[in-house]
Amino acid sequence: MLEAMLTEVFGQCPYCGSALETAVDTTGGDQDYYEDCQTCCAPIHIQVRVSITGELLGVEFKREDDA
Ligand SMILES: [Zn+2]
Repeated sequence: MLEAMLTEVFGQCPYCGSALETAVDTTGGDQDYYEDCQTCCAPIHIQVRVSITGELLGVEFKREDDA
C-alpha cells in the first residue's frame, strides 16, 4: 500500500482573494473537489493535476461557475 503523500499547496480564494492553503494527496492522481473558503465560505473548485509518478504538476483554484 502506498503511503499517502500530502503536499501543502498555497493559493488564493477566487472569490474574496484571501490566501488559502490546502493539503493534497499526490498518490491519488488527478483530483477535483470543492473546499469552502475559510474567510467567505464560498465553494472553491480545486483542480489538482498529478503526474503518473505522483509528482504534483499544478493546482488551480476556480470559482464554481468557471468552466
Ligand atoms: Zn473567500
